Amino acid sequence: MRSKKMLFTFDYELFLGANSGSVENCLLKPTNKVVALLEKFELHGIFFVDTLYLVRLKEAARTAPKAATDFKLIQKQLVRLLNGGHCIYPHVHPHWLDASYDAELNTWSLQDLSKYRFHSLTEQQRTEAFDQSMDCLSKMLQNSTATFSINAYRAGGWSIQPFSDFAKLFDKYNIIADFSVLGGSRRNTNALSFDFSSIQPNSFPYRFNNQVDSKSPDGKYLQFPISSLAVEADTLTNRMMKKILWRIKHGQNYGDGKGVEFVSNEKPSDYDKHMEMLSIELLTLPKLKQYCSFINDNDYVQFISHPKMLSPHNLLIFKRLLSIMTGLYQLESDWRNINI
Ligand SMILES: [Zn+2]
Repeated sequence: MRSKKMLFTFDYELFLGANSGSVENCLLKPTNKVVALLEKFELHGIFFVDTLYLVRLKEAARTAPKAATDFKLIQKQLVRLLNGGHCIYPHVHPHWLDASYDAELNTWSLQDLSKYRFHSLTEQQRTEAFDQSMDCLSKMLQNSTATFSINAYRAGGWSIQPFSDFAKLFDKYNIIADFSVLGGSRRNTNALSFDFSSIQPNSFPYRFNNQVDSKSPDGKYLQFPISSLAVEADTLTNRMMKKILWRIKHGQNYGDGKGVEFVSNEKPSDYDKHMEMLSIELLTLPKLKQYCSFINDNDYVQFISHPKMLSPHNLLIFKRLLSIMTGLYQLESDWRNINI
């Protein structure tokens, strides 16, 4: 049986705009559902946990009982994931530093986007944010029975550039792998900015040194790029399908918050017009064939998904995809077993 390297990465986070939504609907419930599917097929997930949120939640938990309950439930879920052989790593969204908590509603508002990019912090703030993140995550996971090192990272909003903001922090915590590059994409908005246009949308993992988008065979760090495929996203079938599924709720995502509204400073790029990241939350029945042929054509693929964005329909089609793929190929879903 031919083998495929297929990574299932998740950004484990609430909504990052006007209304965070609830822990139950954005994190706990959809994560349990998607993990149950992965485990049915003996596959591993890689979870990038919004660590500055957890830092703020832990703070709020001192005085707010609902926040304390949420923190405990998240900790329980993360420990269970780790014990089940899944990976847990940090994912820093710096604008949590300016988030405000409503103890009554038990939700957060993140309207201030001035710190959205890691680069917008001072060097001292960057160090503090990273230190707090690593400290909080390792303490949360210390009761796990798994032997595990927190040695990989994904930047909030893919904003891993310039990498010089991160290099020292990676070295301080022995982080060797980054998962922030969405090959082929370039974006410049009111909040985030990155340029990965020199990397192919279906690039294999590679090594790098000072720049995440510059391959260097002897590089110190590993880059596991996120895959994108060309889709005819706006076909009539797709649009109709979406409408029907939404109406019968099968296409509605579990998450109950409101995300960031990005305002682009540039005209849509070729990537924006033709490409889409490989994602469970974008996987619908009309796209299943395209996903299958993309995977057939590529020996390495990386999915990026967000539990909060998943719908019952996405999970149903994902199950179908996994059932087809595990019938055809031997799947390697643990990045630590991939040699670069
Ligand atoms: Zn994120």
